[in-house]
Amino acid sequence: MNNSDIIRRSLDSVWHPCTQMKQHETLPLVPFSRGKGVWLYDFEGKRYLDAVSSWWVNLFGHCNERINAALTDQLGRLEHAILAGFTHEPVVQLSERLSGLAPEGLGHAFYASDGASAIEIALKMSFHYWKNTGNPQKRKFVSLENGYHGETIGALAVTDVAIFKDTYSPLILEGMKVKSPDFRLAETGESPLEYAMRAAAELELLLEARHREIAAFVVEPLVQGAAGMAMHHPVYLEQARRLCDRYEIHLVADEIAVGFGRTGTFFACEQAGISPDFLCLSKGITGGYLPLSTVLCREEIYRAFYDDSLTRAFLHSHSYTGNALACRAALAVLDIFEEDDVLAANRIKAEYLNGAAAALREHPKVENFRNTGMIWAFEVKDAGPSFSRDFSLKAQEAGLLLRPIGNTVYFMPPYAIETGEIRFLVESTLSLL
Ligand SMILES: *Cc1c(COP(=O)(O)O)cnc(C)c1O
Repeated sequence: MNNSDIIRRSLDSVWHPCTQMKQHETLPLVPFSRGKGVWLYDFEGKRYLDAVSSWWVNLFGHCNERINAALTDQLGRLEHAILAGFTHEPVVQLSERLSGLAPEGLGHAFYASDGASAIEIALKMSFHYWKNTGNPQKRKFVSLENGYHGETIGALAVTDVAIFKDTYSPLILEGMKVKSPDFRLAETGESPLEYAMRAAAELELLLEARHREIAAFVVEPLVQGAAGMAMHHPVYLEQARRLCDRYEIHLVADEIAVGFGRTGTFFACEQAGISPDFLCLSKGITGGYLPLSTVLCREEIYRAFYDDSLTRAFLHSHSYTGNALACRAALAVLDIFEEDDVLAANRIKAEYLNGAAAALREHPKVENFRNTGMIWAFEVKDAGPSFSRDFSLKAQEAGLLLRPIGNTVYFMPPYAIETGEIRFLVESTLSLL
């Protein structure tokens, strides 16, 4: 197999995600034959630094030896088994450990295979909880402007990214949107904290007026990823928790992208000192190895389903619910977090990158250079409509896998990135501006 062979065959047989396939008449597809650490290699040995962690999923590099070893061991024991009526060791261990790591009071892990399904589960559970407790009129969902929670029809109701949504709007049971606390939207002289408080005041007005019909408020804590790495002050989450308590509305924390250390703490909610009613996890959960997602909820929510009646139960399932291999990869990921004190190591790496990026931050074309944990982003001034595409292409030529969102360039590297690789990332990016 060589590059041009596999590209041609892929274009004939694979419908690639999030892509106008016709663009590949001019935009080359990049085939990978293998990966190691932060690098992905094509069939001719050219390598690319995976600066977006393969769509935000990879944590400890490609072909990580420890995750590989755990999976090899699991393969010899049990690959997968039905989880309705049956159970197995990896799913039990993972559920116990996640509950131990999550903010207080969260447990009863319900599994699916991707992030959008985790959101669907949280929305259905929230609605069903209110129905089971005598409040069937609570069935509306509130989410942030520019929020992203996945692209299935239910998840699109709480997503606010026009390009993914507008075409399907006749199919969507639209939710209510509130002002995003994204600190780039602050007025001059207004601090991120002040602006977050102002956004929370708007949330309060809506909840006060319509709480009787609202089931849940869904939020991406600290960083709205698909919005273009829009960051906000943690006080917003504190306020959201207070308001949801006051108006009896579930708080759904979508930590699908920000969980597992991405924002500097294990879960982003920790930085606001809050515990949500539902915690949705996916992406980094298996270190980028296998599709897995889970929703943890509060005991009281679980209890509202626990009954002799079948219709009060949560009758939801996916074929691969609780897949043993995926759970085992997730356990290996948690082991690495513990053994290597990853959060502390990441703080040092983040500081190093911030230092190395001084010239980038000061570049005349760069605006709003920002960082939360292991996420960096900035806007490029005077970018034309084809900026994202042109920039990705130039980056590829330079051996960098970057996918700007509009004119926002972001770095979301695997935690396995080393100092030399950080310099390569920052210096190559600078040379492309
Ligand atoms: C990626 C993402 C999702 C959806 O996950 P999929 O696995 O792509 O369905 C939901 N919420 C957030 C915040 C995400 O970043």
